[in-house]
Amino acid sequence: MLDRALEASDVKLREMTEKLASAVADPQRPGQESAASLNRYGEEATLLARLLAEHKAATNLLSVFGDRSADLTRLARYAAAQVVQNLRAALVLQGERYCGGVGPLALAADVQSFVSASVSAEAVEALAPWLLAGGASQPGAYALGRDHEEVRTLFRDFADERVAPHAESIHRHDRVIPESLFSAYAEIGALAITIPDSHGGQFIDHRSMALATEELSRVSLGGGGSVITRSEICAKALLKGGSEAQKRLWLPKIASGKEVVAVAVTEPGAGSDVAALRMSAKKVEGGYLLSGEKTWCTFAGRATLLLVLARTGSAESKAKGLTLFLATKPAVIPPADDRTFAFDNPRGGRMSGKAIPTVGYRGMHSFSVFFEDFFVADDQRIGQEGEGFALQMAGFAGGRIQTAARAVGVMEAALRCAVAYCQDRVVFGQTLASLPVARRKLCDMAARVALSRQMAYAVCDAMDEGHGHNDASLVKLLSCRDAESVTREAMQLHGGMGYSEEFAVSRYWQDARVLSIFEGAEDVLAILVIARAAVREVLARN
Ligand SMILES: Cc1cc2nc3c(=O)[nH]c(=O)nc-3n(C[C@H](O)[C@H](O)[C@H](O)COP(=O)(O)OP(=O)(O)OC[C@H]3O[C@@H](n4cnc5c(N)ncnc54)[C@H](O)[C@@H]3O)c2cc1C
Repeated sequence: MLDRALEASDVKLREMTEKLASAVADPQRPGQESAASLNRYGEEATLLARLLAEHKAATNLLSVFGDRSADLTRLARYAAAQVVQNLRAALVLQGERYCGGVGPLALAADVQSFVSASVSAEAVEALAPWLLAGGASQPGAYALGRDHEEVRTLFRDFADERVAPHAESIHRHDRVIPESLFSAYAEIGALAITIPDSHGGQFIDHRSMALATEELSRVSLGGGGSVITRSEICAKALLKGGSEAQKRLWLPKIASGKEVVAVAVTEPGAGSDVAALRMSAKKVEGGYLLSGEKTWCTFAGRATLLLVLARTGSAESKAKGLTLFLATKPAVIPPADDRTFAFDNPRGGRMSGKAIPTVGYRGMHSFSVFFEDFFVADDQRIGQEGEGFALQMAGFAGGRIQTAARAVGVMEAALRCAVAYCQDRVVFGQTLASLPVARRKLCDMAARVALSRQMAYAVCDAMDEGHGHNDASLVKLLSCRDAESVTREAMQLHGGMGYSEEFAVSRYWQDARVLSIFEGAEDVLAILVIARAAVREVLARN
């Protein structure tokens, strides 16, 4: 029945995509969209992107959990039915003003009653005992084969035993990851998991990378799962555009933790609009001089290798004038001051940095970095001049699926502590867990975790086959937004204690907030990546 509901939803989403495509089509350039119109229809594009992401995740979840245990099937139905209800509600509220109007989602009576039953109070009651017994966090809920379950177990134990003891103090005292923990990441292969073994790494597949990320993020976002992100982004760019000599030189060192990467793309005047970057790379004999300011460069203090996107062409050349470089610097290791650094390059120029205080995502510090005629040699340029934008984007596709896994890890942490707290806390003479409202909230949280987790795994599998890059954006959009609502609800269930630093749930909520900002800010991802790709597909066909 839910298959039929999702099929009907799919037809509606196609209609919405077609309507948006006609609204934003550029009359001067057949088959292409107009950027100005897409901006004008940003609200519609955002709605479409969110609904597309939910729909894809629900379809996938039903297919994964359809033949599993009764509880998992029930959870999949609950999640999928909610997705159908969300589309229905969105069309009731916004359908009329959506690109000239889209009618309601009409379902056959038997389908509609199945959808309603799947999210009814009875459905919650059927799901809640399993959920309260920890069912949604048991290995079965990950739906993994034996090899992947082994990877998950390895990183789960590592996260609980080695990362967890540091997680609170990193957050509360805004500390950088202790060096002993960073070495432990290298030892367990966390930094190598994104790099093929032909280049000194231990890449198995994208799903293994996601599992490692998820388990580490469950314990600490800034001091755990995010440590992998930089090597993922840099490795993808090097693999796509680096020379054989560069791959041989850098990748094994990144994999072993000998070289620590930071990514320097964002500037004070250009974040989402990467094509507007201004930092200059001036050609001189034997190399380039980098000049300008980068911002939000995470881990720049501890890093020894900065992946820098800079302008070799004119400002008018936009994205085509950008080139990717690797700049080297010494590591700053505590007890040295880890919030500032300055490096006078023996080959010329200077690089200095200052950490930006943040409300969460602690463990690496994010820096403003100033380059003053900083010399990088010709062999530190990745790819050709002008190829930087495309190479950086290849890195970001890896970053997005990895960020979805980070979001899933944070959501899982929030779900677990909410389940535990609800069983302990007594209100008005009964446990929170016995109240229907709390039970519904826990079901909602578990449903959102399952949607994102299983979709992330499916996208990982597609990426192994060389596609899935668009879907990486979809799952990034979905999971990062859901991480906010899931951690919010977990915090809410904790009442006043949720707002205290004593309970880790306040940290999860603070950390979750950043996920929709980086690796593709939410609206930009929705409008300029997801909706644009959907619209282009329609325009190319017509
Ligand atoms: C903790 C943290 C760590 C980070 N780490 C790194 C790092 O290691 N390396 C790095 O290079 N960068 C890093 N970033 C930067 C991050 O990638 C950028 O913040 C992000 O790309 C957004 O850019 P911006 O901040 O300039 O926002 P802007 O681009 O100015 O966007 C502001 C808002 O406007 C919206 N918006 C922009 N354009 C449009 C549009 N056309 N239509 C609709 N809405 C739009 C955006 O969605 C956003 O909500 C980090 C950021 C944070 C907060």
